[in-house]
Amino acid sequence: MWRALMATKLPSPPKIGMVSLGCPKALVDSERILTKLRADGYQMSGDYDDADVVLVNTCGFLDSAKEESLEAIGEAIAENGRVIVTGCMGNEADVIRQRFPDVLAVTGPHQYEAVVGAVHDAAPVPPSPFINLVPERDLKLTPRHYSYLKISEGCNHRCAFCIIPSIRGDLVSRRPDAILREAEKLVEAGTKELLVISQDTSAYGVDIKHQPRPWKGGEVRAHMTDLARELGKLGAWVRLHYVYPYPHVDQVIPLMAEGLILPYLDIPFQHASPNVLKAMKRPANEAKVLERLKAWRAIAPDIAVRSSFVVGFPGETEEDFQYLLDWLDEAQLDRVGAFRFEPVEGAAANALPNPVPEEVKEERYARIMEKTAAISAAKQQAKIGRTLDVIIDAVDSEDGGATGRSKADAPEIDGEVHLRDAGHLKAGDIVRVLIEDADDHDLFGVETEN
Ligand code: SF4
Repeated sequence: MWRALMATKLPSPPKIGMVSLGCPKALVDSERILTKLRADGYQMSGDYDDADVVLVNTCGFLDSAKEESLEAIGEAIAENGRVIVTGCMGNEADVIRQRFPDVLAVTGPHQYEAVVGAVHDAAPVPPSPFINLVPERDLKLTPRHYSYLKISEGCNHRCAFCIIPSIRGDLVSRRPDAILREAEKLVEAGTKELLVISQDTSAYGVDIKHQPRPWKGGEVRAHMTDLARELGKLGAWVRLHYVYPYPHVDQVIPLMAEGLILPYLDIPFQHASPNVLKAMKRPANEAKVLERLKAWRAIAPDIAVRSSFVVGFPGETEEDFQYLLDWLDEAQLDRVGAFRFEPVEGAAANALPNPVPEEVKEERYARIMEKTAAISAAKQQAKIGRTLDVIIDAVDSEDGGATGRSKADAPEIDGEVHLRDAGHLKAGDIVRVLIEDADDHDLFGVETEN
């Protein structure tokens, strides 16, 4: 019997390589595709040579991202040769096929079944009860201790510089109970931080009329506030991304003060000048943001507000730009990313009059970066001597240091906290850290009992 078993040769499952480009939302898509492929019996491969097929999940948001996507496809073709393309750039199949006639298949964003079907066609799994196993939980590309939680897809807005609605369609919200069940599973599997993402988190549930669903003996509405409160009860850090400043956002601030969700809001303001915001067709641009920031800070004094801004949008005058700089002085945002306006093929903004010359864009970009770095540096300096909760992302066993993030820092986009004498820690630990030093964006400290 033993001999017979020893002699049984399992068919080896095909191996899939994945190159995932773009935003966290694309990363979640990659995770879903890989999860499905694992469930279908495929193995993953970390290098081109070993993979039977390489999937490239592309980003088509900006022309520069498209170029990066095309380069990644070219590299995968050169290194492996058997390539399937998916993601936002999949909407431009003819561009891809023209440049790379050898790609095996091109599918668009969220066409999970189509991309999985293309993999099955390109590299069929030999039937075997031994390898057609469903993994215990979703396969994740993010470290085990934090997870992105996608609550909706698409967007009802039509910002002039953005082509996402034409790629991804109008808002489609997930059911709140399905989101909470997924979050619960993630926490059970070791997730310590849930990063809530969508195109517009504050619009969550509008399309399904905020319909309540049964949850834990009660009901939960498809609404950002209800969802945030229930997520906050799961015992993990909960961080809200891509929130627009609609009036109802005020309702989540008390949840931060109660410690249910992190005192953190990622609000892509994009500009402050009413003229530019109007030309951009930004949602919620009439909200009195400066007053509300003050009110939020009165309720949750530690709230960290991250944002991004576009400079050099068509028609932006020196007055508009100066308005933005003065607004930033008042707003004292904690984290700011700035971008020079770049026309994206298909975006309404491309047809707007009065484009800003490149050298003016550059000059404004340098000025906004200088301003926001100074604000950030002062904010970081003010943290020296304080004790903060820090989630550990990585430990360096050689130098005994560790890198983590405070509640004010989202992974990959914000600053880090560097710890000394931390070799005993592991990723996912949440520890108290005495802040000893700071630079413009990062903090430095040591674990403390207090
Ligand atoms: S809110 Fe505006 S920028 Fe954001 S996805 Fe919708 S249309 Fe694009």
